[in-house]
Amino acid sequence: GVAVGRRVRSKRKWGRVIGVLKDLEDSCDTTVGRLKQVVDAMAVEMHAGLASEGGSKLLMLLTFVDNLPSGREKGTYYALDLGDTYLMALRVQLGGHRPSILVHDVERQSIPEHLMTSKGEDLFNFIASVLEQFIEREQNGSGFPLDKRRNLAFTLSFPVKQTSISSGILMKWTKGFSIDDMVGKEVVECLQDALMRRGLNVRVDTLVNDTVGTLVVGHYHDVDTVAAVVIGTGTNACYLERTDAIIKCQGLLTASGSMVVNMEWGNFWSSHLPRTSYDVDLDADSPNPNDQGFEKMISGMYLGEIVRRVILRMSQDSDILGHVTSKLSVPFILSTSLHKDCSWRSFLHCYSSARNHCSFPLSIFRTSLMAAMHEDDSPDLMEVNRILRDTLEVPEVPLKVRKLLVNVCDVVTRRAARLTAAGIVGILKKIGRDGSVGITGGKSRSDSKMRRTVVAIEGDLYTKYSMFKEYLDEAVDEILGGEVAQHVILKAVDDGSGIGAALLAARNSPEDVDTAQ
Ligand code: BGC
Repeated sequence: GVAVGRRVRSKRKWGRVIGVLKDLEDSCDTTVGRLKQVVDAMAVEMHAGLASEGGSKLLMLLTFVDNLPSGREKGTYYALDLGDTYLMALRVQLGGHRPSILVHDVERQSIPEHLMTSKGEDLFNFIASVLEQFIEREQNGSGFPLDKRRNLAFTLSFPVKQTSISSGILMKWTKGFSIDDMVGKEVVECLQDALMRRGLNVRVDTLVNDTVGTLVVGHYHDVDTVAAVVIGTGTNACYLERTDAIIKCQGLLTASGSMVVNMEWGNFWSSHLPRTSYDVDLDADSPNPNDQGFEKMISGMYLGEIVRRVILRMSQDSDILGHVTSKLSVPFILSTSLHKDCSWRSFLHCYSSARNHCSFPLSIFRTSLMAAMHEDDSPDLMEVNRILRDTLEVPEVPLKVRKLLVNVCDVVTRRAARLTAAGIVGILKKIGRDGSVGITGGKSRSDSKMRRTVVAIEGDLYTKYSMFKEYLDEAVDEILGGEVAQHVILKAVDDGSGIGAALLAARNSPEDVDTAQ
């Protein structure tokens, strides 16, 4: 009798857990019909954001990038890329004709966590010191004369209201950064001052968002590139827009008749987005409630956190994970997208065998762990067990529970990837490249042949999380339909944000054309 009772109870509990999964699946619905509503909403919001200042949650920021580098750029240029939990310093040598990127050196340095929430001056002093060390180290190799002034592009991946290609004011922080005294400040001045304090002969002459750098590199390799998306810790997109469509800046004239617009789509919102109670709670517990709603459903900083919340709910409703561990209950954690010091696939290896060399806090359930669970191809999902044990202190769980958890990862990632796809098609719709008669009067399928259209994509979720990429690619095809989808190419780009910025710096300061070695 006792045994039967126990079996019935455990069946009931399992039923509840399956119920949690079922509810999650239902509330993460991304049927093509719903995705098309998101596409339309994105295109409508883009119009609204271009029509007037504050007209939409999409900021639709000017970038002052009006034509993209030609490939004839020449010289040695530097770039600093800030926007993640690490800072990147780069040196790019350009040869003057395609392929002109001769060499590039990149160095990544993680940003000490306290600097993300301290004072602006501390952060910029740190940035300057990283550049100083980078320059010192490359001295021998670069051939760059010691006393000659260096030109530097600054990639700052936060919403910045630009006033020119080399100046702009920080509007707000995202992705867990929060340095109050920087908001409203002229960011290039802050960087320039910090470099001067270090006595560096460097001039910051270009300021860009990471998406713009990605677009530049994408376009450099393929001239049909019209838009770029970053999907890493945070997410955003930019695209090439006609200046006459940027109604809020009447009289804006550029030689090319167009300008790259930084959408800041992380803040996109629409009632058509499939939102769950986990999203609502995550938002409330985040450092920036009611902000960056789209980003919180799709980017690397948040996916692992959504999954953690679902697993917590499941284990509260039953005893599938034994007792609820304190690790699993840690509320909103500033989880970064992926482990930076190790490559994606070797992550598990690094995680288990080389932990001493890794600065990665193992106690935190991050998106990288979620992806490792999701893509566990070991027999019987043994890695899932290992991750649960090592990070959440959960003792071994049966195979059916491991499968269930992989399922949770799948639902959350699939939704994120499909919503990103809808966002991309929204841009294509706005510029008349989705093959339909759009609200901008795009050509109908029968009018003309669809032009080849390339979207550059950067960020760990797309480049290193194969399930995410698969779901995204598939959804773009589903939304556009086979015939049109054939003309739309999504291209992964690596390190684009920094190299692209250096290419722009080269275009901005052509006086240095003869410094190439
Ligand atoms: C920022 C964007 C940035 C994106 C990707 C977002 O949180 O607001 O400016 O492009 O992250 O790095």
